[in-house]
Amino acid sequence: MLYSNIDCKFISVLTRPLETKLLTGRRVFCALMSEQNAEQRAEAVGVHRIEFSVDWPPGHVAAYLVDCAEPILFDAGMAGESAHDELVAALAEHDYEVADIEHLVVTHPHVDHIGQVPAIVEAADPEVYAPEGVGERFERDVDDLAETVERNATAAGLRGEYLEDAIEMSVESLERDGSLLDPDYVDHWVDGGTDVDIGPISFETTHTPGHQADHLVFLAAFDGERRLFAGDTALGTFRPVAMHTGFDDGFDDAIDAYYTALDRLGELTVDRVYPGHGPVHTEFQEAIADDVESLDHLLERTEAMLDDDDKTAVDVAFERNGDRDIRYLVIETTSALAKLDRDGRADSTLTDGVRHFTRA
Ligand SMILES: [Zn+2]
Repeated sequence: MLYSNIDCKFISVLTRPLETKLLTGRRVFCALMSEQNAEQRAEAVGVHRIEFSVDWPPGHVAAYLVDCAEPILFDAGMAGESAHDELVAALAEHDYEVADIEHLVVTHPHVDHIGQVPAIVEAADPEVYAPEGVGERFERDVDDLAETVERNATAAGLRGEYLEDAIEMSVESLERDGSLLDPDYVDHWVDGGTDVDIGPISFETTHTPGHQADHLVFLAAFDGERRLFAGDTALGTFRPVAMHTGFDDGFDDAIDAYYTALDRLGELTVDRVYPGHGPVHTEFQEAIADDVESLDHLLERTEAMLDDDDKTAVDVAFERNGDRDIRYLVIETTSALAKLDRDGRADSTLTDGVRHFTRA
């Protein structure tokens, strides 16, 4: 262990003005406030950041260990052996083993947030909490999903091997994610807008769809701060892509859902954000405002790309490609065009199963 809780608290008090700087480092040792009496100190709760390497920007995903009487882990990092090694090593720095985790909380079922769920369940048999909608989503019939994705991705303008890829990606994600976060592991299906007791701490949940349709965030006050376990929201560094339901039905609601999530988040009072990517930060409202602006900008740019010539979502996505992964951009662009169409900012016609957009 690098620092005991008490040492850590001491350091934190001494270096208070430097805290922001410390928090932008690769690891957050302890974000503890400065209550001075011994009893409170004994009850102090630390939050430790655990980073896993990932192949896509920004190169990592973070999980957080809440170091309290019943250790709580928020999110479970990447899948695979080397990610497991990273988990073991990061826990060891705080004198923990995987088997010590008593509560495991999942913000949303993306592979970089649920990768180590099976290993943690096997080693620790924790209470597992997951968003309510996930169970139903994982029961989705694979053939029906494949047909729906084929229809929606065809309408978006995908064809040939790109279409095959989109279908394969959806089916593989469903099968992989449903086995990593096996519904049999889940003890508590959690709804947004409720209070949930996790070990000794009571968390307020908020449903934040858009990036992923079932996404939840968890807010709790302890050690004098209101702390948000934010998953892939309020990152402060970039806005996660609107993947919502992928190419499954519901994609046309993705942007509105994302705005709804940001509205809900904007209502919260948060002192410190523990995001899935990028550093822990204290600029919550700024992060939400940036994301709203980014969505506005997405719609404006998408609208500006339309003219009198017929364009598919794929045509528009390739125009805004840059260096980003076109597969996710096509989904986000398809959702943006659906919203523009519904709001009267674009016109569309469906011809032979392919939707073409023009300026309204
Ligand atoms: Zn995600």
